[in-house]
Amino acid sequence: MTSKVLYRKWRPQRLTDVVGQESVTQTLQRAVATNRISHAYLLCGPRGTGKTSTARILAKAVNCTSPVDGEPDNTCDACVSISEGRALDLIEIDGASNRGIDDIRSLSDKINFAPNEFRYKVYIVDEVHMLTEQAFNALLKTLEEPPDHAIFILATTEAHKVPLTIISRCQRHDFRRVPLSAMSQKLAELCEAESVQATEEALEILARSATGSLRDAENLLEQAVVSYGSSLQGDQIREMLGLGGDAEALKLAEHVVAKSVGEGLATINEVSNSGADLRQLQRSVTEFLRAVMLVKSGSASELGYSDEVTTKIQEVASGSELSHLLKAIKAFSSADMRHDSSSPLPLELALVESSLAPEPVRQAAPAPQTQNNRPVQQQPARNAAPNSYQNNNSAPSRPPQQRQPDNRPSPRPPPRRDSSEPLPEDPAARLTVQWPQILRDLRNTGNRFKLGPVLRSAKGVSLDGSRIVAPFPHESHYDRFKGEMDNPGVRREVSAIINKAMGADYEIVGELSTENSGPTRKQANQSHLVRAAQLMGARIVDQREDEQS
Ligand SMILES: [Zn+2]
Repeated sequence: MTSKVLYRKWRPQRLTDVVGQESVTQTLQRAVATNRISHAYLLCGPRGTGKTSTARILAKAVNCTSPVDGEPDNTCDACVSISEGRALDLIEIDGASNRGIDDIRSLSDKINFAPNEFRYKVYIVDEVHMLTEQAFNALLKTLEEPPDHAIFILATTEAHKVPLTIISRCQRHDFRRVPLSAMSQKLAELCEAESVQATEEALEILARSATGSLRDAENLLEQAVVSYGSSLQGDQIREMLGLGGDAEALKLAEHVVAKSVGEGLATINEVSNSGADLRQLQRSVTEFLRAVMLVKSGSASELGYSDEVTTKIQEVASGSELSHLLKAIKAFSSADMRHDSSSPLPLELALVESSLAPEPVRQAAPAPQTQNNRPVQQQPARNAAPNSYQNNNSAPSRPPQQRQPDNRPSPRPPPRRDSSEPLPEDPAARLTVQWPQILRDLRNTGNRFKLGPVLRSAKGVSLDGSRIVAPFPHESHYDRFKGEMDNPGVRREVSAIINKAMGADYEIVGELSTENSGPTRKQANQSHLVRAAQLMGARIVDQREDEQS
């Protein structure tokens, strides 16, 4: 009873409930209503946009004993058994798993058997592009002459990897990213249903960060509720997503470009007072200024920021001057934070320095170079445009993506890191420095859950030989981590990211931290199922710990 109510709440049960895919769902609905059902469908589109949900609803609709306008009634035996995942005639195959390939091979043997209970046997093949060539051939054979009782619904995030021979035998439907407004509205409905008080801002940040994937948005919302309880503010979501630093850094970059010294100083001090890592602020603001410079010079093909941030960067760029940007990037990238990362002074100096009007050019001798790629000039007082080759304010001709001709550290740091700062040799120290970078690189890694935000909830990450140990205070986050790491594709991606950041192979392992076994643990154990039951007046009478899953 409880699970059914919950299922209804979170998963669409009718085609019209699928969020943001009206053109697809209306077409399918009409097809079912007029009994023009194809034997093979290909559902393409980004992850988390409702492909698998739609496939399941379609499986119900074609088998429903009393469909309404092409929609399943969700009450007949066929609908209920599909909803409850016990329908023998709905066969779901995960193309990404090794078993999926065997499943496809055995499929051609079994395909001709009539359905057990339904009108149609429905095969849903998820991530169909992951199939091996052998499996594709087996699938193609069955698609060439499908028996009347069989319907194939193939789903993929990467249609271009599906052989044309397969595509040409399918009716293709393209899913789009769920629009922001539809996503925010859906999240608001979920909050209402779950008695969660979330500010509009909090939901908007969640929706934006999910970049069109409703599943991501739902998962992030659930993660936020587990972490922060049932009252959600924008700041908490930013903290969870690790966006705090970026927002401040972007604000600072804006002030730098506008030469608003007072406001810029205030921003630096806010960040400093909040106890945040000022080196991170330095890195981020330098990256933003670089992005602004790239946009300004028209060479920004891919900045890697969200649409929201990209729009902001474009706005800032429109009011900027290249020569000033160069000066600011130099000032911020060479601010020396290595000895005292808690002092805001170097950043304050860089801000003031980059905002000063250029002094009349002095023909100073070119700055002497040092061997170790470190800037010699760091004193703001000496900065006033010492670069004799670049002494006017209207020199936009130099392509900014080239190295500056003075051989000083390039104002364009490698992505996400200040090039003037060598990485520590010691692996543990290196992990400390690189961990935020690893989290950022992992922000879009994961099959069902994004590992960046999930790992951000781990506290006290440490190195143990060749393993990186991530202790999770919340069981649900730990489970998500484990679940994702079970996927070979995800594991490969994670290994590559860690190798890049650490310069060697490390295995990352999660563990449930023992410190938080009190109320937090209890809360973590309260799944949506339990909460939904409680909302309906249920009380917990017994609670068992089940460590091994
Ligand atoms: Zn039905």
